[in-house]
Amino acid sequence: MLGGRQESGPGPAGPGPSASGGDLNVRWIHGSPSPWHRTDPPIQVQRYDERTFILRQSKDVSYEAPFMYLLVGDERAVLFDTGATKDPASSPLRATVDRLLDESSANGHGPVRGLVVAHTHGHGDHVAGDPQFLGRPDTAVVARDVDAVREFYRIPGWPDGVGRIDLGGRVLDVLPTPGHHPSAVAVFDPRTGFVLTGDTVYPGRLYAFDPPAFAASLERLVSFAEDREVSHVMGCHIEMTRTPGRDYPIGTRYQPDEPPLQMSMGQLVSVKEAALKAGGRPGRHTFDDFVIFNSPCRRALLASALGGVGRNLGRRLGLSQGAPGEARLRGPHVKNQRTEID
Ligand SMILES: [Zn+2]
Repeated sequence: MLGGRQESGPGPAGPGPSASGGDLNVRWIHGSPSPWHRTDPPIQVQRYDERTFILRQSKDVSYEAPFMYLLVGDERAVLFDTGATKDPASSPLRATVDRLLDESSANGHGPVRGLVVAHTHGHGDHVAGDPQFLGRPDTAVVARDVDAVREFYRIPGWPDGVGRIDLGGRVLDVLPTPGHHPSAVAVFDPRTGFVLTGDTVYPGRLYAFDPPAFAASLERLVSFAEDREVSHVMGCHIEMTRTPGRDYPIGTRYQPDEPPLQMSMGQLVSVKEAALKAGGRPGRHTFDDFVIFNSPCRRALLASALGGVGRNLGRRLGLSQGAPGEARLRGPHVKNQRTEID
């Protein structure tokens, strides 16, 4: 986003009555205009409140530029995701987390040294930094397979049950959300009212590798969220522009026109309705605030990347309105759709 303020975009509801509220008045790092002059720090930290930190990895390091979340309780902290980069020299995640925990301890709280390194899901751009935490004292790194995730959170049934992680005075609910990835989860934090949605819901291309499971997960996720005091829906990437229905091409390293990261409950419901409407039909289904990309194969991804390049070129030349083969949807329940599937 631009301008350091959230004056436009999704318009999330305020924090729920039991949530703390916090600071999302941030301009995220979004890459450098010139590849020969990199200006972003490797990791940006946004202190939402004194025990909640949102981290973004630099696009100068990885075009994925994933977001990570550090939530601190009275007894231990949990880090959701470790980014796209193993090398601490280019992406010093462990040093950053240790510093934040030290500062958190210094803010009148007891020292919090214990750390759980967990994941919204097991894709490489969310787990690559795991090795930085190997050997760290009082640290558990949760494995990425379904059995390990189910066991760690004590989820009574997969994917229908809800598990928990207790940080001490801060108990998070964990809901399985397979579809983008078999062991994907969503997490509700009552302190902030955040629902962390990983790559299942965010302002970008939502890759449904298993479309029926993806749609079913969204139905469960909406029910789960409706039962809780949700302030913001927080995903792990930004790939849209602030122009409705327009995403940055895959691999983009500089995104000066990003919408806010946070999404609203209304947008979460829209994603669910969109997934149901798209059904299992493969390919891109484009909406104002997100794209659903069903069963993406290598060829479709390449076409999407090239389509993005073509759109950019066409826009510069004042020509194109959309990429060929791109499905656009309309429906009474899904906000901001424009045309039927063609
Ligand atoms: Zn992913």
